[in-house]
Amino acid sequence: RPNAGRMPEWIRLNLDADPRYADTARAVHDQGLNTVCEEARCPNRGECWARGTATFMLLGETCTRACGFCSVQTGRPDWFDNDEPRRVAEAATAMGLDYIVLTSVNRDDMADGGAGIFAETLREVRRRDARMGVEFLTPDFQQDMDGAVAAIAAATAEFPLAESEPADLVWGHNVETVPSLYREVRKGSRYERSLELLERASALPRVEAKSALMLGMGETADEVAEVLRDLRGAGVERIALGQYLRPTRYHLPVKEYVTPEQFDDYAAIARDLGFGWVKAGPLVRSSYHAEERQDHAMKG
Ligand code: SF4
Ligand code: SF4
Repeated sequence: RPNAGRMPEWIRLNLDADPRYADTARAVHDQGLNTVCEEARCPNRGECWARGTATFMLLGETCTRACGFCSVQTGRPDWFDNDEPRRVAEAATAMGLDYIVLTSVNRDDMADGGAGIFAETLREVRRRDARMGVEFLTPDFQQDMDGAVAAIAAATAEFPLAESEPADLVWGHNVETVPSLYREVRKGSRYERSLELLERASALPRVEAKSALMLGMGETADEVAEVLRDLRGAGVERIALGQYLRPTRYHLPVKEYVTPEQFDDYAAIARDLGFGWVKAGPLVRSSYHAEERQDHAMKG
């Protein structure tokens, strides 16, 4: 395992710990679906999958961008399946999930960036289960942000959840790192464009915007605090901060293992800024404990 010798004790990969992990894996693979849990080699697979939670990856396994931290393959995608929304919805209901996260690679090759597939998957899910919580983790839709926002807003408005639910849709888009590292870490993406998408998502009725950063890539604490302020300024409600882990030795190296205490400090800053849902810790990923309706950390 790359970097294993240098990994501090607070990072443990606890896979296959629970027999339900295998069941969930089978349900996903039987439908021919992809999960980001596997593609991104997420360290929480054991825990999340054992709880029956998974993040589905729409629109194929080949991404048009090449972020320096990401293990998804880059290339020219030739994959498109109009039937994917139905298959994802059927897998999610068959698995008895009550909250699903839907994400995708960047599809800069598609006119709508894949927004139509997100919208249609939301419809297919809600047609089968009117109460299932749905969270998107989308690309920046640089091809046509107006069109993407309109398509997703329309699907969201068609299937409102009960008033008692916090939102009809959680719309996540990850800024991933601080702006000074974009050229190295998120080549082809622009910080301002990501903020703009989040601002537009948060302005939609009954939609909560969410974002996430990976830390330990060389950012400073001041830069992180600045990004948190920017995100709150854009109306973002939910924030996840986790440790970057290098997927292979061909990816960007880990510059620093951020201590749990430093994560606590960032979480305190985020709560002071008014984020309603804050997760910060070495193994936190954007979809980690996504199904929780509000921030539980305050109770601890
Ligand atoms: Fe999957 Fe997200 Fe859980 Fe990781 S944190 S295993 S990506 S649901
Ligand atoms: Fe990976 Fe997303 Fe970057 Fe594509 S855009 S390389 S899927 S992080």
